[in-house]
Amino acid sequence: MNDNNTDKEHIWHPYSAMSSDLPVYEVESAKGVYLTLKDGRKLIVGMSSWWCMIHGYNHAVMNAALESQIKKMSHVMFGGLTHEPAINLTKKLVEITPAPLEKIFYSDSGSVAVEVAMKMAIQYWHAKSQPNKYKFISLRSAYHGDTFAAMSVSDPETGMHSLFKDVLKKQIFVAQPASRFGEKCNPHDLDNLEQTLKQHAKNVAGLILEPIVQGAGGMWFYSADYLKHAKALCEKYNVLLILDEIATGFGRTGKLFACEHADIAPDIMCIGKALTGGYLTLAATLTTCDISNTIDNGKPGVFMHGPTFMANPLACTAAVTSIELLLSTDWQSNIERIQAQLTSGLSKCIKFDNVHDVRVLGAIGVVEMKQPVNMKKITEDFVEAGVWIRPFGKLIYLMPPYIINHDDLDILINSLINVISKN
Ligand SMILES: *Cc1c(COP(=O)(O)O)cnc(C)c1O
Repeated sequence: MNDNNTDKEHIWHPYSAMSSDLPVYEVESAKGVYLTLKDGRKLIVGMSSWWCMIHGYNHAVMNAALESQIKKMSHVMFGGLTHEPAINLTKKLVEITPAPLEKIFYSDSGSVAVEVAMKMAIQYWHAKSQPNKYKFISLRSAYHGDTFAAMSVSDPETGMHSLFKDVLKKQIFVAQPASRFGEKCNPHDLDNLEQTLKQHAKNVAGLILEPIVQGAGGMWFYSADYLKHAKALCEKYNVLLILDEIATGFGRTGKLFACEHADIAPDIMCIGKALTGGYLTLAATLTTCDISNTIDNGKPGVFMHGPTFMANPLACTAAVTSIELLLSTDWQSNIERIQAQLTSGLSKCIKFDNVHDVRVLGAIGVVEMKQPVNMKKITEDFVEAGVWIRPFGKLIYLMPPYIINHDDLDILINSLINVISKN
């Protein structure tokens, strides 16, 4: 654990109580798929630091690129100035994201990228003299971030809407699609969505979805067919489609972007997390020429956002390097390799009485328990087993760095199975 009481006494951790008795482990260093704790123990990481660290920690190529950039400049303001890292990253993103997405707004975190996307949608309709289109449709079990607008489109229960009900904008929620990934979409799922669009479209700026994988709201993989139809319905009812690819982007689901499973492009797309290969915080909101032109031609004629650390050169350098690293490998076969091993390994869990469901997509493996896990005990058991796996609620899941080898992934999977069989 840690011999330093400063953390316990003064620092908040994500979604935690200051008085929490849950263990917090001090990490001394990290390399490849291993964390080294202050006490010398080594843990294999199963979380990629929440989807981000796709090439592993302390990567020689990433380090060299950042060291070289830091000698030129770590940061300059982006108002009235630009720089090579931002230009290079922009060329890459325009090239690898779906074709109509050509205009990019950089920000510092996923939640802010979602705020920016929602602002873009509202400004777009405002510029088209339809200021009454300012609401958003979202799915139950969605997660889009922790700032207020992002929270307003996240699941009302897990997003604690009751606590913030006087400040949160009321948005419109549709049941999450029951149709699983790999299945055709059942008509009931689409009917739900279409009825909602029909009823509310005149007040709706956009439909916001996590494509294919609902992440922090439940780790649910849904039908690509649903996404395809959702796109068509947005067009039919004149509503923008915002895809939040913050968790799914950069290969995690087996496609570079999850919307490719449905062969569709959104009007606005948010990316973050693995964008910098987990090195630094950076996010982006991408949109079409039509939307940017419309905003330019409306009032006030500018897009109203501008973060202090917008397009930070170090973060942009990390992103360019990470994307180059990813694309220089046969990443798709690699994700298939991880998917195959997760599928065969985790399938052993389904026979346990305490397990409700097992599902795998790309480099994401999920075991859904029947009851919420005991966080303290399960975390200690995992650390004891030499792995870093962090469940939430009923969900225990693995999303390892893409560089993980067969033996280390086996250890992760077997530790998960052993710990589940004891809990
Ligand atoms: C993590 C996440 C966010 C929020 O990103 P932050 O960088 O934590 O603000 C938004 N949407 C999705 C789908 C995410 O997984």
